[in-house]
Amino acid sequence: MRIDLPIDKMPTAWFNALPRLPEPMQPPLHPGTNQPIGPADLAPLFPMGLIEQEVSGALTIDIPGEVIDVLRLWRPTPLVRATRLERALGTPARIYFKDESVSPAGSHKPNTAVPQAYYNAKEGVHRLTTETGAGQWGTALSFACAQFDIDCKVYMVRASFDSKPYRRMMMETWGAECVPSPVADPTSPGSLGLAISDAVADAAQRDDSHYSLGSVLNHVLLHQTIIGLEAKEQLAIAGESHPDVIIASCGGGSNLGGIALPFLEDARVRLLAVEPASCATLTTGEFRYDFGDTAGMTPLLPMYTLGKDFMPAPIHAGGLRYHGDAPIISLLVQCGRMEAVAYPQSKTFEAAVQFARVEGKLAAPETGHAIRAAIDEALACKETGEEKVILFNYSGHGFLDLAAYDAFNHHRLID
Ligand SMILES: *Cc1c(COP(=O)(O)O)cnc(C)c1O
Repeated sequence: MRIDLPIDKMPTAWFNALPRLPEPMQPPLHPGTNQPIGPADLAPLFPMGLIEQEVSGALTIDIPGEVIDVLRLWRPTPLVRATRLERALGTPARIYFKDESVSPAGSHKPNTAVPQAYYNAKEGVHRLTTETGAGQWGTALSFACAQFDIDCKVYMVRASFDSKPYRRMMMETWGAECVPSPVADPTSPGSLGLAISDAVADAAQRDDSHYSLGSVLNHVLLHQTIIGLEAKEQLAIAGESHPDVIIASCGGGSNLGGIALPFLEDARVRLLAVEPASCATLTTGEFRYDFGDTAGMTPLLPMYTLGKDFMPAPIHAGGLRYHGDAPIISLLVQCGRMEAVAYPQSKTFEAAVQFARVEGKLAAPETGHAIRAAIDEALACKETGEEKVILFNYSGHGFLDLAAYDAFNHHRLID
């Protein structure tokens, strides 16, 4: 059962969580002075359009027409009721997933890449730099930059650059340049924190360039709320008054924020973050100020963190290997509005394979985390007999992660 929203019913404004948080958020601090930063501090890296959104108190923010035109290439995305999974589990729960894998890059990430490229182009910036782990964000930004005729340079974590060439090939096809990071040390396997340092340093040194981040920041989560806004309409079409629980994988928190934040004020709705046990930021990290990168060049953000030097194990869910989490998500977890759970990767692949066999779709390893938690919620309903409505975010497909499935299928996957 698939619930499609007509193209002309696509939301035309994003949902801003900032004025609706249960507690005020602590401000980002300048890395040199430890004082709250202002718009001028961010201007070398970001366009004013995005800086304004980063601190906006408006309840909603209109999506520019040029952005809507591009999003309509694949949006609205389908909401699907996973009836075959329900049957296989024997659960009385109703399981829905929002399919963000249908975008050009194959994940939710273009939802923010497109507006980020748009606001930069509008303010006359012709070159963007960014980092990417396994390559999801790099492909999304490369696609978006091609739409607005902007040059794009992607610093890719060297271990992935060497072992996963297909996303680099996608980036180059969209016209971007992709180089391994860290640039300064060819013997290092690299990390997301190091690649952010490379990309920020590049943009800060050049007048013609800005930097772009694919998760964590307030404006990124804002752009992703189109997911939850559409899902709300689609659940209503399906005859559901509200979901009982919303589940998403959490790396930096953008696909989670995107699907969950529009339901923030509905106290009936539980919100659940799912992270890998090997990079369990929300469930084992500390809530404090920390840098977003390893070199300590970014502002200090109030967030759950494992420390900027934390080196996560090389699990297949590359998009979940980040030492920190979005300040919005961190605040919601800290004040008890959002829950978090962590799984070892073998458990998430078990769930992803079960899902593929009944529903047909082969998920990204990151998405496997959300599927795992959704299945466990549904199995809990089987015990209690509760007919809960479970909504999870199908954040991306796994067509470029087949080596990981191969390892799992042939018992070579280790936790
Ligand atoms: C990047 C990515 C994630 C994790 O990033 P968030 O910012 O936490 O959403 C999850 N799923 C997929 C498919 C991704 O590409």
